[in-house]
Amino acid sequence: MKVYGYGTQSAEQDLSPVVFERQDPKDGEVAIKITHCGVCHSDLHQARNDWGNTMYPCVPGHEIVGVVTTVGKGVEKFKEGDRVGVGCMIDSCLDCPSCESGEENYCRGPKGCTLTYNGTKNPDGSNTYGGYSTDIVVREEFVLRVPEALDPASAGPIMCAGITVYAPMKHWNLEEGQTLGVAGIGGLGHMAVAIGKALGARVVAFTRSEDKREEILSMGADEVVISTDAEAMEQAAQSLDLLINTIPVPHDLEPYIQLMKPDSTIVVVGNMIKFPEFSPGPLVFNRISVAGSLIGGIEETQEVLDLCAKHQITPNVKMIEMDQVNEVFETLAAGNDGDFRHVIDIDKFRESARSLNGSATKVEAPSR
Ligand SMILES: [Zn+2]
Ligand SMILES: [Zn+2]
Repeated sequence: MKVYGYGTQSAEQDLSPVVFERQDPKDGEVAIKITHCGVCHSDLHQARNDWGNTMYPCVPGHEIVGVVTTVGKGVEKFKEGDRVGVGCMIDSCLDCPSCESGEENYCRGPKGCTLTYNGTKNPDGSNTYGGYSTDIVVREEFVLRVPEALDPASAGPIMCAGITVYAPMKHWNLEEGQTLGVAGIGGLGHMAVAIGKALGARVVAFTRSEDKREEILSMGADEVVISTDAEAMEQAAQSLDLLINTIPVPHDLEPYIQLMKPDSTIVVVGNMIKFPEFSPGPLVFNRISVAGSLIGGIEETQEVLDLCAKHQITPNVKMIEMDQVNEVFETLAAGNDGDFRHVIDIDKFRESARSLNGSATKVEAPSR
């Protein structure tokens, strides 16, 4: 099938219209007409090769919501007309211990899981193209059901930010009545506060911005602590059962270690760059762990979609048109994420896409 999208040919170039072929759904695969795609900070990093592993052309987008158009033979879970979503991955080996326990995100197969874009497609090794496009084809095991109670425009970010913070709450057994800390209140932190409350935890948010206090309280946080206020941090010492650290840049971990109860865990989901040196003494004396966590498995992603539908947890969303995405990238690059997620109106893009035929660059996915 012919698919229109927005992609970039190099780290220095803006995204521009592209047209490419996707294979029609084979056995077990689902074709999806995309209606919405969230703009994630990762999209910007990948498009600009900030991680040094981008293959071009690059068509980003892993917060995909759409409607099933056709299904391949043997598909059981979905039928034409279903409202569905696709998150950060579209395939894995489905055969290793991680996949068998529903943790496809940690697939131990030779290639790991296949990311929705800039991933390596099985079996031909071609580069995957994401949701900044009119259609996508995905095997049914990696397609999620978007509950009717969820606004399709805001469901996308739940499959990225939502699952990223939900999976550690599950893995480290956050219980009702326990105290959850959330460090850094951006896209991930917002979701962590709301989901932590939905799970019955007492939620304490840590932020540098005093001017975010009221907004964070209105999201349901029980308490807001300004992380640069040494006295307030001192008062919160040894109060947390679990801390989800969403701060995306290198920062001193020591003030956060002081917040932890004995036998508790700090889970890093934001910063992938480095931490400055910190003393392990407080970890040793209180058996505190520092851990990491990457998105979550498919079953858990479905769980968090259902949980968000039940509790009406929806990220703030600002709809944009496809040709505004470069502007949005500039805003994100400048650190002005705001307190909402940009979501591309793909239906609108589809209407105009046919007239792009002449100006869209024809691209073919290269193989690794
Ligand atoms: Zn993302
Ligand atoms: Zn696997």
